[in-house]
Amino acid sequence: MIYLDNAATTKPFNEVLESFLLVNKKYYGNTASINEYGKKCKKLLELSRKQIADILKVNKENLYFTSCATESNNIALIGAAMHKKDFGKHIITSKLEHPSVLEVFKFLENFGFKVDYINVLPSGHIDIEHLKKLISKDTVLLSVMEVNNIFGAIQPIDKIIEILKDYPKVHFHVDGVQGVLKTDLDINKVDSYSLSAHKFHGLKGSGLLYIKERRNIKNISLGGGQEDNLKSGTVNLANAVSTAKALRIYSEKVSEMNKKHYEFKKYLLEEFNKLKHVKVNSPLKKDYVNSIINISIEKIKGEAIINSLNAENIMVSTKSACSSKKNNINEALLSRGISDDDIKGSIRISFSCFTRKDELEEFIKIFKEKYKQFEEVIESGI
Ligand code: PLP
Repeated sequence: MIYLDNAATTKPFNEVLESFLLVNKKYYGNTASINEYGKKCKKLLELSRKQIADILKVNKENLYFTSCATESNNIALIGAAMHKKDFGKHIITSKLEHPSVLEVFKFLENFGFKVDYINVLPSGHIDIEHLKKLISKDTVLLSVMEVNNIFGAIQPIDKIIEILKDYPKVHFHVDGVQGVLKTDLDINKVDSYSLSAHKFHGLKGSGLLYIKERRNIKNISLGGGQEDNLKSGTVNLANAVSTAKALRIYSEKVSEMNKKHYEFKKYLLEEFNKLKHVKVNSPLKKDYVNSIINISIEKIKGEAIINSLNAENIMVSTKSACSSKKNNINEALLSRGISDDDIKGSIRISFSCFTRKDELEEFIKIFKEKYKQFEEVIESGI
């Protein structure tokens, strides 16, 4: 199999799987138990937290384990909105966000919040000037992702931080799932930041949440009060340890990986640019990550391209795995002003630490063969 769907999920490192098994065998105790075994497990949990915090350059006290980034986004956004509800009712995000943010904003409308969406520029970045116009003294919450998951545009988080200096009441949440360690963002400068281990070769069901001021987040996960009352439920120690392991290995590889991905992206874009009916939605630019490429083939459905590549054991995707089964137009691409036809004909190719050049050569060879068949259909005008 040639696996090029790494923005959806990555293959876990072997060391991650080994540590998951080892912890479940040797440290299966409950981190909240006050017996000696529980205390040992708790110590291991705190060691993992410290290791992750050091890599992310944040304080360990600000970092919480959750069960996925979707949950992290829910806890941070609903918790911040509930805390701030008496100070203002205006909240802002953009259509670029993942459903785990967009759906929360829609949900918050039920509690009297008014949502505004920042315009998106054709380049795929939020329009900072529009944000300046939208933000007001009534604004209490803003959420903008670090890197878009559909086409890889790096959002201007530092510029937003500058604007917010005049609006200290606003809680600024950043979904860092696709960006972590790929940009030079200082996480300490935002109010909350969410992560998902399975995007950096960790395990599914392992999330992280950074929160600058714990007292500014109302608890929405109610129960035993684990993770400082933020995420109740018995802590999954094996997931926490393997997340620390994944992040450490990833952090050692990420710089080399980025350079390699730059060459991969350059190679693929050169090949795509030779094909008349292919449009590239992810240029090779500094404000785009190198690991995600989105393209559109004129008048051909993304699903048709995916299926024809599937037949050759090549895995790419149409859009976010979370929404690819819904029969709707991708909102992130739509917000950039990309036409319906080009959205329907779009696919995403994404790389990981494990992606190799020879796999991409094979991919492009097969892609070109398939393209020829598509070209006949396109040019026949049927
Ligand atoms: N945010 C972004 C930008 C994502 O790409 C994803 C997953 O695709 C998520 C959030 C959700 O992550 P999880 O699968 O851990 O819930």
